Amino acid sequence: MLLIGEKKFRAKQIYRWLHVKYADSFSQMSDLSENLRAKLEENYTIGSLKQVKKLVSKIDNTTKYLFELDNNCIIESVFMQYSYGNTVCISTQAGCRMGCTFCASTLDGVEKSLSPSEMLSQVYEIEKDKGETVSGVVLMGSGEPLDNYDNVIKFIKLINSKEGKNMGQRHITLSTCGLINKIYELADEDLQITLAVSLHAPNDMIRNRIMPVSKANPMDKLLQACRDYVAKTNRRITFEYSLIKDVNDSAENAKELAEKLKGLLCHVNLIPVNDVKERDYVRSTNEAVKRFEGILTSRGIETTVRRKLGSDIDAACGQLRKRYKDEKR
Ligand code: SAH
Repeated sequence: MLLIGEKKFRAKQIYRWLHVKYADSFSQMSDLSENLRAKLEENYTIGSLKQVKKLVSKIDNTTKYLFELDNNCIIESVFMQYSYGNTVCISTQAGCRMGCTFCASTLDGVEKSLSPSEMLSQVYEIEKDKGETVSGVVLMGSGEPLDNYDNVIKFIKLINSKEGKNMGQRHITLSTCGLINKIYELADEDLQITLAVSLHAPNDMIRNRIMPVSKANPMDKLLQACRDYVAKTNRRITFEYSLIKDVNDSAENAKELAEKLKGLLCHVNLIPVNDVKERDYVRSTNEAVKRFEGILTSRGIETTVRRKLGSDIDAACGQLRKRYKDEKR
């Protein structure tokens, strides 16, 4: 950090220009002296993302963006409109190294862990582009947030800061593939965010097949970490469960899952898997989804099936980014 011998309140002014007014140059900061603006220009840059592609759904206004980072990496972000407000799904890494077999983001590994500024910029750029206020963020784009731990925590604190965007922590959802040690670390941060854990299986046998990360993070220890997380934070956990035909969607699977989640303060989000052409996975039939939901609900597990947004611009879960990169090659 460079000390530039300015009064403390200047920092607040600059912070406001960056995080409330979304200034993209120091010259816009009209309440700073010429001299200070020049000094800032000389020593700092304001991060920005280059929009390289945008797809807008005619059905529900869901908007998918591809942004290019300074080092030419491509990331994907999504704007979604709900009755309770607008939410942006951001990427925390360009690519991912977790290797889930149904996920397109991980096919080429991780290229870069994003800085807090690169995460913030996704939200700010989308607000500017849509001309709409964004009230919630989900960390469910490409990347494993807990594999970029420090930057993700900084991002949460920045977007939550009163002097900045002031987004409520309860409007922030962090989704992880289940890195146990990091879940304990996160519990100690004393945050009010929602933790979502990608479970996708009722036992290690199935989970090991589709999520290699599960070998080092077995389910009984993971669920214990979730129980401890709830005890520490008093926050309900969301479990994500992507339904893949004939892999994890049987009645048996649902019963086993219900048994394991008994007594845990949680909510299950069922997501019919998006077919990934690079793999042989096919989404479960509507009947299988209904059956799965029914079994969980009847056993007292609160369950919803995720509503599909932007079905006319279907390029879910890193597939838009993957296609763009392949075309460029
Ligand atoms: N790495 C984090 C967050 C990014 S992925 C995590 O694993 O949770 C966000 C969610 O999308 C995860 O639940 C992930 O498992 C799921 N997902 C990835 N590919 C998918 C696909 N093809 N269909 C449905 N869900 C998918």
